[in-house]
Amino acid sequence: MTSAAMTIKLEGIGVSEGIVIAKCRKKSSNINAILERKILPEEVEYELARLRQSIALSRTQLEDIRENVKANGSGDVSEILEFHIMLLEDEELLTSIENHLRQDLICLEKAIEKACRKAANDMEAMEDPYMQARADDIRDVEKRLLLNLNGVNKNTAPQNAGEPRILLAEDLTPSEAAHIDPRNTLGFITCSGSRTSHTAILARALGIPAIVAVKQSLDEIPDEALIAMDAKQGIAFVNPSQEIVDTLEERRRQRQQLSEMYSTASNRLPETKDGYQTYLVANVELPSEALNVKEKYNVGIGLFRTEFLFIASGHQLTEEEQFNAYRDTVKAVHPYSVIFRTLDIGGDKFMSQLQASREINPFMGTRAIRLSLRLPEMFKTQIRAILRASAFGKVRMMFPMISAVEELTQAMAMVDEVKEELRNEGLPFNEHIDIGCMVEVPSAALVVERLVEYVDFFSIGTNDLVQYSLAVDRANADIAYLYQPAHPAVRRLIKHVTDTAIANGKWVSVCGEMAGDALYTPLLLGMGIQELSMSPVSLAPVHRLISSISRHDAEKLVEAALKCNNGNEVEALCRYFINSNCPELISQ
Ligand code: PEP
Ligand code: MG
Repeated sequence: MTSAAMTIKLEGIGVSEGIVIAKCRKKSSNINAILERKILPEEVEYELARLRQSIALSRTQLEDIRENVKANGSGDVSEILEFHIMLLEDEELLTSIENHLRQDLICLEKAIEKACRKAANDMEAMEDPYMQARADDIRDVEKRLLLNLNGVNKNTAPQNAGEPRILLAEDLTPSEAAHIDPRNTLGFITCSGSRTSHTAILARALGIPAIVAVKQSLDEIPDEALIAMDAKQGIAFVNPSQEIVDTLEERRRQRQQLSEMYSTASNRLPETKDGYQTYLVANVELPSEALNVKEKYNVGIGLFRTEFLFIASGHQLTEEEQFNAYRDTVKAVHPYSVIFRTLDIGGDKFMSQLQASREINPFMGTRAIRLSLRLPEMFKTQIRAILRASAFGKVRMMFPMISAVEELTQAMAMVDEVKEELRNEGLPFNEHIDIGCMVEVPSAALVVERLVEYVDFFSIGTNDLVQYSLAVDRANADIAYLYQPAHPAVRRLIKHVTDTAIANGKWVSVCGEMAGDALYTPLLLGMGIQELSMSPVSLAPVHRLISSISRHDAEKLVEAALKCNNGNEVEALCRYFINSNCPELISQ
């Protein structure tokens, strides 16, 4: 970089929010390029012995870290480390290294590199984003094995040395992230990664602001350059001007105030200015998060995505395993309630143990309730576990991706069958458990008058409702401009479901991302939605917005939106509405 004063803007994906202004430290890779050294056949055994040594050392290190992490209560992190330990025993990987040694007669370093890179590339070529993200784990294990071979890895994290800094790295592997000491590493910025990568999960678990997938090169940024990052927005400035620093500091102060206001208010039932209350609840994936939600945010759980329990464990969970996880969640959230959603495998959440084959169009394929009904034993096992957990607190259960009345009646019949079994076995459960139906498919929204006869509540999954009603793949960045939650077609479906539910005395909530985006809160409230379930970090702004508006004005906004031609026009109206009622929210 020629001028120290030149400001460079970095843009990426914010995966763990927070504002940090600090000098940076660049991560050094520690591994030099590996030369391909030929070996003699008699050297093979010696190289294999070195491999065994490096594996043993790597295992001890990983087990130590895992114990430390467990002691600090981070379940997600210890699962990742468990996966790394499993990779050290992976037969396919070890055979591939041995084959390179015996057949290609190349040195161990090169054999490890080749075998691991092939395995990582194979993972990356998979369609499932979860499996793709596992490629980073293989690279991580490769690096550890190589460093241990060379005696470099002393199980210290180089990024932790010295003064507190923002860490800049081309790539940050999950076990490097697990080593991070938040006292010395104030945030990190990487060129690689995605929202679902383990490194992103770790950033959130550790509470470290993080931006991944930065488009610009980090090569030219010198060590110790000043960086101002706003991870919520996914942007950072190298050598920021005083004006940028002042703006971010002010923003940090406002966000801090907002979250303090929320925690002191500790009110999960915010009220509009004209006295209407709306329930706020959280979306969570794992029991460890559930504990955090109750302690930190004092709310219940409106959507527990049970499929992540299966995906994280990598196997089909037994009844006892599921029961333990559900019961722990119920106890952690007590006295509030938990809505367990039965498995939503399929779409972008692939699990080879449950799905026979890859589909050409998985979002339209054997997903969610369709898969559960096709695998009745698995489905009944899950229903049993959820019902048994209902003996320990307030539990509700709902089915994902219902598209026809028959799917709902078949699922309800299974619930009745399982209840009968439990009664016969003398196992306790809540006989009057509330059962709900997700509305994520337009056909469900349009036959809601029929569905309402069978359920106690509806939960509108806008993530899918938007993609299915507008025919826009929710994960496709190229057509993201067409993905419009405020589109008049979506609004009509939501309104129809809400009106029908309320007219029949049934509860209705929204649990898609739309519920956590304060921009849409007035629209949803104006349509009569009674509960919003969202990622916990969105609770404070949505809470704030609800307290700043009147339901009457929100209804008028819905009326005005009726005249709009597309989602962008509706969004402009919403922005104007928020600016007039709660301007601080827009400025943050
Ligand atoms: C939704 O579709 O809005 C939803 C909450 O389900 P998921 O995001 O898990 O598909
Ligand atoms: Mg969905």
